[in-house]
Amino acid sequence: MTRSGYRCTSPTHRRSPPRIVGMAVGTRYETVIGIEVHAQLRTASKMFCACAVPTLEDEPNTRVCPVCLGLPGSLPVINRRAVELVMLSGLALECHVETEAVRFERKNYFYPDLPKGYQISQYALPLCSNGRLIVPVAAEDAEVMVGITRAHLEEDTARMQHGGRDHSLVDFNRAGVPLMEIVTEPDVRSPAQARAYGETLRDILRYIGASNADMEAGSMRIEGNISLRPMGSERFGTKVEVKNLNSFRSLERAMEFEIERQTDALERGEPLVQETRGWDEGDGRTVSQRSKEEANDYRYFPEPDLPPLRPSEAWVAGLRAALPELPSARRLRYAGELGLSLYDAGVLTGDVALADYFDAVMAAGASGGVTPKAAANWVTGEFSRLLNQHAAEGLRADGVALRPASLAELVAEVEAGRVSATNAKAVLARTFVSGESPVEVITAEGLGQVSDAGFVGEAVASVLEEHPSQVAEYRAGKQQIYGFLVGQVMKRTQGRADAKLVNEELRRRLSS
Ligand code: ADP
Ligand code: ZN
Ligand code: MG
Repeated sequence: MTRSGYRCTSPTHRRSPPRIVGMAVGTRYETVIGIEVHAQLRTASKMFCACAVPTLEDEPNTRVCPVCLGLPGSLPVINRRAVELVMLSGLALECHVETEAVRFERKNYFYPDLPKGYQISQYALPLCSNGRLIVPVAAEDAEVMVGITRAHLEEDTARMQHGGRDHSLVDFNRAGVPLMEIVTEPDVRSPAQARAYGETLRDILRYIGASNADMEAGSMRIEGNISLRPMGSERFGTKVEVKNLNSFRSLERAMEFEIERQTDALERGEPLVQETRGWDEGDGRTVSQRSKEEANDYRYFPEPDLPPLRPSEAWVAGLRAALPELPSARRLRYAGELGLSLYDAGVLTGDVALADYFDAVMAAGASGGVTPKAAANWVTGEFSRLLNQHAAEGLRADGVALRPASLAELVAEVEAGRVSATNAKAVLARTFVSGESPVEVITAEGLGQVSDAGFVGEAVASVLEEHPSQVAEYRAGKQQIYGFLVGQVMKRTQGRADAKLVNEELRRRLSS
């Protein structure tokens, strides 16, 4: 597969000396990035046989059959659910879903982890094509549109285990596991955008249940293709494909490294080679692996053992109707209709369970005067903080004992000034776990806020009387003492005094 002739550049690329300000990376060259993602589809069985999809605990070579071992005479059968999940993903990415003739093709190459000597994939006629994804890029305070070239189905290869110098082992459990490959247009313009694309895509695949999309567990793999071109130039430069990226952070770092490496080469007038490079996480650099093969090296041809696939219009329409509201649409709804900040909208929609919880709080609380802003503050603030404390147990918003309607009650109490924010937080911490009614707890524990002028006045008077030296210091100009005095009043009233009244009383008495 490796074209003869050129054999990669030196892996010991030296870093350039620090740049002079004004010559910073990216000022003379524009970065062009296209991203390829492989996501393992959430199916029970493999792509072309009835073998169960293996787990990491399975003993090697226990999830295999003649089909996925590539034994002669065995025939593949298409996994319907895998096709469906790719179509669902394609719809979520606003792709055209092909219903005329989707073809499976053989991608031929020889490697010990490829039992048949070819991989069944899609090439000329993929299942989904021509889509787009709107990606929020927090680091750039912008949204960018990334074109989706295609999303197609293929099968995974086996796994090699290299056991030192004298032998290698092959585990065929993963051979034939259903994969979706999603390829973008070269629309990405910075490492931060590349990372944001990966994270946004991951969220969507999880949202629609197409994939666990877990980089660490290997159910999502990502490759970045990157080239530079002179600012203002139309023509693309020579691209490099970077593999071995084990996190979105690695993708970002690898792209940053490549910008620097390629800029150096271009400035020195050295030609860049189209090649595959691997990311070395420890060294923080990319290393040349092989010169990139061309598509025609694979000798693609239609898979003779499978008929063309023709998904019915009704099947596609059904999937389209079943598609949940996606994070981007939801984010826009939260920001546009509900007036939330893009930040809050992003936090909520980053986690489907949290967004659902928020929606339920709004539904229950709207009539009781719970504003979207207040509900969002509580859900993204104190509620999320408590959720994080239980993150190790895998607790999600839908598993919290406190139901959304109860949180709505609590927020309404705060909004109406019937409980202080401090006491409400304490009540939330308790009811979050117990599921009790916050209003009942407030009543039973006497935590309600007291807006009675007499009650507050008395507390303020007592505090001033008990702290004559602090009062004197405050009057002498030491402003910080004020906060201390407020704190004392709150302590004295067990947090029940109406903060607004406390302020009024304190200011009045201190200035008289
Ligand atoms: P290959 O045949 O080498 O796999 P493709 O044309 O399939 O190349 O593109 C693979 C990925 O590389 C796509 O995401 C594409 O957008 C991106 N890409 C193509 N050309 C460039 C380029 N010059 N610079 C950066 N990315 C590119
Ligand atoms: Zn099998
Ligand atoms: Mg390609």
